[in-house]
Amino acid sequence: MSNYNVVVIGSGPGGYVAAIRCAQLGMKVAIVEKYSVLGGTCTNVGCIPSKALLDSSEHYHNAESVFAGHGIGTTRLSFDFGKMIARKAGVVKSNNDGIAYLMKKNKIDVYTGLGSFVTKNKIAITNDKGEKQEIETEKVIIATGSKPTKLPFIAVDKKRVITSTEALTLTEVPEHLIIIGGGVIGLELGSVYKRLGAKVTVVEFLDKIVATMDEDISKEMLRILRKDGIEFMLSHKVTGAVVQGNEVTVSAENKNGEKVEVKGDYCLVAVGRVPYTDGLALENANLKADEKGRINVDQYLETNVPGIYAIGDVVRGAMLAHKAEEEGAFVAETIAGQKPHINYNMIPGVCYTWPEAASVGATEADLKKNGTAYKTGKFPFRALGRARASGDLDGFVKVLASKETDEILGVHIVGARAADLIIEGVVALEYRASAEDISRMSHPHPTYTEAFKEACLIATDNRALNM
Ligand code: FAD
Ligand code: NAD
Repeated sequence: MSNYNVVVIGSGPGGYVAAIRCAQLGMKVAIVEKYSVLGGTCTNVGCIPSKALLDSSEHYHNAESVFAGHGIGTTRLSFDFGKMIARKAGVVKSNNDGIAYLMKKNKIDVYTGLGSFVTKNKIAITNDKGEKQEIETEKVIIATGSKPTKLPFIAVDKKRVITSTEALTLTEVPEHLIIIGGGVIGLELGSVYKRLGAKVTVVEFLDKIVATMDEDISKEMLRILRKDGIEFMLSHKVTGAVVQGNEVTVSAENKNGEKVEVKGDYCLVAVGRVPYTDGLALENANLKADEKGRINVDQYLETNVPGIYAIGDVVRGAMLAHKAEEEGAFVAETIAGQKPHINYNMIPGVCYTWPEAASVGATEADLKKNGTAYKTGKFPFRALGRARASGDLDGFVKVLASKETDEILGVHIVGARAADLIIEGVVALEYRASAEDISRMSHPHPTYTEAFKEACLIATDNRALNM
């Protein structure tokens, strides 16, 4: 039987980063993954394949609808959906291979099979042939991630009623894709299929989309995506989805209690994700989960059992790849006796539609709720030379700063390249910059980053230069 300092269960962004950081700190490490490929949800059925399809469909959409405005003509424009899906699989594979290489480079033993607790220091690994082996370890890091939330009244047949996993491997573009849930998955995958010619209807329970983001972002995203042709049925609670042949009928109730039906050929259920602990046999190590199935952890991400840690989607907090990664490094360093720190308020969130939406720190609603006096600087991209040059005029940068001290408390962006721009907000928040600090820093011209500087000028002293 092999002995390890640390065994990591799950090879998503939380697990593989934890394994690498443990190895860098001199520990003998094993990683257990039930699938034959490494990388978890993010690499295989999440961040990476969705962004590959978003990029492919955006190229097509731009050629079809945007190029003409730049004086570029296209004739006989077409797309090969099979090739797009195959390219996405190639992108995923190169990431899988990259992670396998990193495991080898860092001398991490990889075990393929379902990991489960025998005791708190012994892990059994059962492969798909049913063969079992056991390994012993001083510490365990659980990084088993999440799976799509099911609605009890909807049967997901994975053919016509699908989750994000199937939506990433369809063999045809739907004629009418009905999406339950106007969160990140619904909007990203809805954008992919809208650009490729599908009619897309999003049915959302709340009266807004991307509800966790700042209210102004929700409103601007709704306006832009409606303009792009996505249909939204807000304040509609879905109550069922029935398949007949190739047709799916989704039923919902509006806020007045009236019943409505929508018919399409595919229905994507995107109503959130839940922690995944099936098969782990938590009870054999006396591990406790909360009422939502999340493994209980303390401020050090240690579970109720000393020496067993849990990270990523399987514990509380935002279900994001970079949050899982930070927690992976945090636990490795904690085990090594270091004193790491994660500032959860400064983990950015991004929605990769076009334009993108990105946020970090407090929203206006947060500040109102906790009674913080604040001021707002909001600068529209359409006032920027760079945005006019590219034709990406939608959106804004919104900076929220303390009324008393001018410290930046939140940054919210909708617009071209918001996913990359948000890092300036993260750095500003981490270093507790004031809006004036940022407004006095040189921002390259012409770039989209100037909108951040201008928003800070407005927040500080209402003195935008270009508006
Ligand atoms: P996971 O990535 O879920 O990995 C867990 C791994 O554990 C899996 O490989 C699983 O097979 C394995 N496992 C589970 N149980 C066992 C067991 N008993 N034994 C062995 N192995 C086991 N986040 C972003 O930040 N940016 C994005 O752009 C983004 N896009 C997304 C798009 C989609 C469509 C989806 C579904 C998610 C997206 N996410 C995105 C969320 C992101 O994928 C997750 O937050 C992230 O993968 C969580 O990482 P993790 O390491 O906690 O778990
Ligand atoms: P979500 O929580 O973002 O959105 C789900 C939406 O479904 C909510 O707006 C909710 O009100 C709605 N809903 C729930 N029940 C409903 C019903 N019966 N009828 C109508 N609407 C209903 O969840 P998601 O979009 O499934 O994403 C899951 C997770 O994956 C998120 O936590 C997210 O962090 C992660 N993710 C991140 C990214 C990214 O970072 N770009 C991309 C995809 C997924």
